Amino acid sequence: MKLLEERIRKNGKIFDGGVLKVDSFLNHQIDIKLYQEIGKEFFRLYGGENVTKILTIEASGIGIACVTAEFFEVPVIFAKKSKTKNIAGDVYTSKVESFTHGKVYDIIVSKDFLNAGDRVLIIDDFLANGSALKGLIKLVEDAGATVVGAGICVEKAFQPGGDLIRDMGVRVESLARVKSMSMEGGVEFC
Ligand code: 5GP
Repeated sequence: MKLLEERIRKNGKIFDGGVLKVDSFLNHQIDIKLYQEIGKEFFRLYGGENVTKILTIEASGIGIACVTAEFFEVPVIFAKKSKTKNIAGDVYTSKVESFTHGKVYDIIVSKDFLNAGDRVLIIDDFLANGSALKGLIKLVEDAGATVVGAGICVEKAFQPGGDLIRDMGVRVESLARVKSMSMEGGVEFC
């Protein structure tokens, strides 16, 4: 998606350790017009898939998922990052290793909101090593629901997540695929 690539080139900031900061328009301050274009594009890609739910993970995915859901006219569920060790109640759970914080945490979704008949589109802002996406896929599979695919804003294609998830047979559509990035050379797209 040219619009997103151009915006990353213009306003993205590259940090040590392969971190791309896009917090002036995507995941801290939000350009809602850009979100709308992103949502429209996800709908163009997945609109024919009879999606019944959109699933994301807190916090950065929620806004993108909500704007996208306006096009699909379906509910959004966001997986919560659980702080308690003993997870009580009727929840689906899986483990995610945070790329940006380096910690492993549990994510949970109530069993009330994911059902066997659901066709789920997973939305997230970034795909790096694939841990977040893998955790979300497990929640859907545990519910007996179907993963229609994943809609990712920025895939860092130099990290293994994209290949890992596609090798699992899951459709992944990324609106901007970063081939390489460096402080000297900037961002190069696939
Ligand atoms: P993964 O689980 O694929 O390794 O990482 C995906 C998650 O880590 C995303 O939900 C996103 O919040 C965060 N993330 C990974 N790489 C980056 C990055 O370069 N910049 C930002 N802002 N977040 C990232």
